[in-house]
Amino acid sequence: MSAHYDTAAMAGKRDYYEVLGVRRNATEEEIKRAYRELAKRYHPDRNPGDEEAAEKFKEVTEAYEVLIDPEKRARYDRYGFAGLDSNWEGTAPSPAAREVIDPIFDLLSDFFGLGGRRSRRSLRPGRDLEVVLELDLREAFTGTTRTFELERLELCGECGGLGLPRGYRPEPCPRCGGNGEIYLHQGIITLRTTCRACQGQGYRVTQVCPRCRGQGKVSVRRTLEVRIPPGVDTGHRLHLPGEGEAGDPGAPRGDLFCVLRVREHPFFRRQGNDLLCQVPISFTQAALGAEIDIPTLDGKTTKLTIPRGSQSHEVLRLPGQGMPKLRSQERGDLLVQVIVEVPRKLSRRQEELLRELAELEQRNVTPQRRSFLDMLKSWLGSDPSSGQTNQAPET
Ligand SMILES: [Zn+2]
Ligand SMILES: [Zn+2]
Repeated sequence: MSAHYDTAAMAGKRDYYEVLGVRRNATEEEIKRAYRELAKRYHPDRNPGDEEAAEKFKEVTEAYEVLIDPEKRARYDRYGFAGLDSNWEGTAPSPAAREVIDPIFDLLSDFFGLGGRRSRRSLRPGRDLEVVLELDLREAFTGTTRTFELERLELCGECGGLGLPRGYRPEPCPRCGGNGEIYLHQGIITLRTTCRACQGQGYRVTQVCPRCRGQGKVSVRRTLEVRIPPGVDTGHRLHLPGEGEAGDPGAPRGDLFCVLRVREHPFFRRQGNDLLCQVPISFTQAALGAEIDIPTLDGKTTKLTIPRGSQSHEVLRLPGQGMPKLRSQERGDLLVQVIVEVPRKLSRRQEELLRELAELEQRNVTPQRRSFLDMLKSWLGSDPSSGQTNQAPET
């Protein structure tokens, strides 16, 4: 017999392998499986008021805590219980154990072993948080990474969120004896009601964690980073699961939502996935056609062909030159509205040429003027250009 059996006997404890019913060379998976079975069987919810089951539950959890941790298991294999810290009681189950038991284990009350008919204290999940992140249109175009600070509630590092001093065990509530409920007998009727002394928790807390003053949580400033994909728009929400506030120990954390605001751009206006911009052109470019450079959001330029005879405020479309579509390789279009500008000042030569053009125009009616004349004709019921109906009186 090795030494650890002796210490086990002294502590009144059973061998951990025996407790879980696994071989000494059991794999991690086998240990997990065995623990899951036993935790379910002895879970206080399934055995209300059963002290023995509550004890068993603690026993299997303790065995699991040790055997699932390679380092603790090695120490246990070598030195038995003497190789382990003896103060397992009073500390919260490790994340390894919580992974298995969380779904079936109401952490706070079960853990203190105050079995019986405790009232169910539901674990509150952490609150969701929301932050607003501003970015400019160029960042929305290329996608970017934002670093920001956020103040949120985290589980207190001192007490693990239980709100109690280390090693402190609350006493069962003297009013309800740990049941969390009391019975009022009124004649033949028995009323069951939540114990008001302990608010149904079944235990009485007379000391609190000095760091969080019993709240279990402390406010912490955190720096977070979020990747913003190309193509986002104002009002988009990025979802960061688990980055909200901490919940009760064992309950899920809240989520963080980043609400995006895209600032207006001095040159480009956005319409869905399309970009709109206005570009001034001269009236000769409009009349004769031209090829001009248009700036784009990625800092480059793209060529725009202005067809002959373009009119002011006409919109020319450059397909695939707009905003990227979110989570897609496609892009919207770039819509360029050309604004024909009339020169304010003319050189002598320019004026000469324009006057020549004006004379030409008086002889040749432009298509637009012709249609205007056609309209007039139809209103007056005759041809106004023929000079027949509107003759000057004879002298
Ligand atoms: Zn009570
Ligand atoms: Zn604390």
